[in-house]
Amino acid sequence: MAPSKDIESFRALLRSSKNIIAVAGAGLSAGSGIPTFRGNGGMWRKYDALSLATPEGFAQSPSLVWQFYHYRRETALAAKPNKAHRALSFFSLPAVRNQIAPNSTFTLITQNVDGLSVRSDQEVAAEHPELIHSQQATSQPAMLEMHGRLFDLLCTDSECQHIEFNTKSPICEALAGTEELIENKVTDPNIELEDLPRCSKCGALGRPGVVWFGEQPHHLNVIDELVANADLCLVVGTSSTVYPAASYAQEVKGHGGKVAVFNLERSKGDSKADYLFLGPCEETLPKALGLSLSADGNISIETSA
Ligand SMILES: [Zn+2]
Repeated sequence: MAPSKDIESFRALLRSSKNIIAVAGAGLSAGSGIPTFRGNGGMWRKYDALSLATPEGFAQSPSLVWQFYHYRRETALAAKPNKAHRALSFFSLPAVRNQIAPNSTFTLITQNVDGLSVRSDQEVAAEHPELIHSQQATSQPAMLEMHGRLFDLLCTDSECQHIEFNTKSPICEALAGTEELIENKVTDPNIELEDLPRCSKCGALGRPGVVWFGEQPHHLNVIDELVANADLCLVVGTSSTVYPAASYAQEVKGHGGKVAVFNLERSKGDSKADYLFLGPCEETLPKALGLSLSADGNISIETSA
């Protein structure tokens, strides 16, 4: 059967769902202007961006890899969370979610490293203190950043392994302005190791706190348990046919749960989803959840379509 795009029946499904997860990918932040670096056009300067996201790439040229991540940090710092981030932030608050999916749990599992979902949660909490209840602490995490964070700085010294959260712009003087360099104008500057970001504790070379290809994603045990218990999986801004969303969606379907895909365009295998909402997720997601988000940051909740 073809997936449904019926909002009324999706909201009925939400009302009866108890353990909800969302798996988010690059499409969630696309509306905030964050480049995806995947598929066609996934290039940075003259490099295939994916080749820079490996431990081998970093070992070969820490200077080049740091310029790539400096560029990504600066882009993320300049970006703002969009309405899809905000819809997920509101939905993660029990005071809001109870009106949409009463007595349910929710965790956002994001593959994004840009920190926009975290900033969105903080903004929503600051703007709406009335929605934050002191007794909402549960053991279940509201968000899991499975591919790490652009703003974590990891020490490369195996003895130290210090991790710090660092949003400095630029992260170090030597990288300042390198985000502006364009392939045709300038060759890649070679920054000396001692001028790259260093561990604040032991002084060793630091590296971006993101999970590179060939490295183990974070929180896998917690995620496995959430997926095993989920009765509804929202796939947001990522292909439902590529790992990890594909395997999570398949497992949720496999034990009788439902899958709803929010993506810009179709991808192969979407036909297995129960619901498919095509278009920019900053439009489709708030609408499907029944959240109308105004420009001044206020929300109203439609409990039926
Ligand atoms: Zn260190």
